[in-house]
Amino acid sequence: MNKKELRDIIRQRKRQFSSDELRELSLAVCQRLLAHPRVAAAKTILLYYSLPDEVCTHNLVDELVDMGKKVLLPAVVSDTDMEARVYRNADDLKLGAFGIAEPVGEKYADLKTIDLAIVPGMSFDNDGNRLGRGKGYYDRFLSAIPYIYKIGVCFDFQKVDHVPHSTHDIAMDEVL
Ligand code: ADP
Ligand code: MG
Repeated sequence: MNKKELRDIIRQRKRQFSSDELRELSLAVCQRLLAHPRVAAAKTILLYYSLPDEVCTHNLVDELVDMGKKVLLPAVVSDTDMEARVYRNADDLKLGAFGIAEPVGEKYADLKTIDLAIVPGMSFDNDGNRLGRGKGYYDRFLSAIPYIYKIGVCFDFQKVDHVPHSTHDIAMDEVL
């Protein structure tokens, strides 16, 4: 199976769930994240602001801010690249490319201070291989900070035995 075929299969699986069901499933994933020792220990966390078909992080980002964490979110800045920006509250968010809400403001340049990256994906396997939406944004961004601990998150129905991958694909240290 190639990447495109796997993306099609995952899209088809997603369509079997209502948005309410996905919200419900998201709660359990967020509870697992909040209970995770890596999350507890991290001061600065790169997270993502979810689209409707992803594990919902809309409450999680605020919970982490309230816990005193510095939360960074991606902002797409070109056809190939994204940058990290600080998230403070939902008023900071503006819709960016691909309809993803992004913090307004400066690029967070101090990438080496990121303790943890929580990364969404279309699919993951047990070895941490990740399938994205096909533009390679996370592969490029994470290749600059390879030592950062990476947790892949998705719904259980998105996990497969083997995700096709090549040398440019950045693997996760763990899939939640
Ligand atoms: P995704 O990870 O979003 O599923 P792919 O892994 O299929 O997407 O990558 C999409 C495109 O981005 C590919 O053409 C790939 O060559 C390119 N790409 C990914 N990472 C890099 C990188 N570090 N430098 C240059 N091109 C990259
Ligand atoms: Mg990739």
